Amino acid sequence: MKLVLIGSPGAGKGTQAKVLSKHFDIAHISTGDLLREETSQKTELGLKIIDIMNSGELVSDEIVETLLANRVKRDDCKKGFILDGYPRNVKQAENLPSIVGEIEKVVLISVEDDLIVERMVGRRGCPKCGQMYHIKYNPPKEDGVCGVCGEALVQRKDDNEETVKNRLSVYHKSTAPIIDYYKNKGLLLEISGVGDIDEISKQLIDALEGAR
Ligand SMILES: [Zn+2]
Repeated sequence: MKLVLIGSPGAGKGTQAKVLSKHFDIAHISTGDLLREETSQKTELGLKIIDIMNSGELVSDEIVETLLANRVKRDDCKKGFILDGYPRNVKQAENLPSIVGEIEKVVLISVEDDLIVERMVGRRGCPKCGQMYHIKYNPPKEDGVCGVCGEALVQRKDDNEETVKNRLSVYHKSTAPIIDYYKNKGLLLEISGVGDIDEISKQLIDALEGAR
């Protein structure tokens, strides 16, 4: 099963990718992870990527495509994979089958922007033990204090309304054409990412199994 996963930042894409990867025994591939892995191993290509990044340039499609082509040859991709964070534009989507084979389904996890903003702006984390909270959905027992270790909770800088709204607008601009592209090919499977996480996973798995 070869899948592409699309969704706004904060839509719960990573969580669902892990569930799908486990359920279908397919690899979870993120191009961000691929780049980090290659550069940390200091391969010839990895060193080239470091140079490009240091000079402030964007890593070319060609390089990312090479990494992807190598990645899908690994054993854990025998039953397929789920691509998370790629493709990012229509040209990459058009090239994709020649690199990794035909994509069977493109899963879009959709959550309204207002909800994403509420989810992200309400997040609080413990700087000491890493425990995460949400002021509305998962509040600590005592306001602003970690229930595990008693440390004062903090909000990440990026979790403010303006930054989140900007990220969402960038996402919509770049992703809308990819969504249309896959819709026209009849590959798009849209699932609401609102509600209970386990319930969303179940819906996703049922829909994908029904589509096989
Ligand atoms: Zn803590």
